[in-house]
Amino acid sequence: MYEVFVLFEGYSTQIDNVTMDANCSCTLIKGPKNIIIDTMTAWDGQSILDALTKKGLQPKDINYVVCSHSHADHIGNNSLFLEADEHIVGLTAHRNSLFYERDMKKRDYKLCEGVTVIATPGHTSEDVTVIVNGKFEEKEVTVAVTGDLFEKEEDITDPSIWMELGVSDLRKVQASSRCKIASLADVIIPGHGPPFRVTEEIRNQLSEQLQCMNEESNHEAGL
Ligand SMILES: [Zn+2]
Repeated sequence: MYEVFVLFEGYSTQIDNVTMDANCSCTLIKGPKNIIIDTMTAWDGQSILDALTKKGLQPKDINYVVCSHSHADHIGNNSLFLEADEHIVGLTAHRNSLFYERDMKKRDYKLCEGVTVIATPGHTSEDVTVIVNGKFEEKEVTVAVTGDLFEKEEDITDPSIWMELGVSDLRKVQASSRCKIASLADVIIPGHGPPFRVTEEIRNQLSEQLQCMNEESNHEAGL
């Protein structure tokens, strides 16, 4: 049985017009295989090592590194884990100079029993989410580690939060990815906020937002 630990809770705070203070959620999936998701900025190496030690792990024990996408605050310490079987950075899977076609745009990529990587474009065109069936805070649940597909829980009631940070041409795609993940998960670990439970109300809000966007674009297309 896999267990999911948030090693560091992501956050983001706008300091002034040109400065944002932000770091991502860094998540450990511990079990028969050990997986680390999103390795923060290049300045966080020692903190990650210390957090792993507390969980009884060393870098060599990590089997997979997954980065939800390739922004600087999500990939900073991949080089701590050079003994991993594979690094999956967005849709790119590689080990050293060998790059593997995992066809994630077409099919989900099962890393091991209970852990799957799925393409969830929107924030960038190459975002992935990790779905884990396992234990989180003592409960057996399905957890989605989403990177910035969900910036934080507040972006459900205030969609401008995620819309302003993502690729603008992909907003509808992102809204659709968000619905898909909410339908699969009991708990979401977002890119820059604390984990939250997915309620029926949240699922409804997300599908209404998608529907609105579809109607708007039909309207614009004169349909
Ligand atoms: Zn981020």
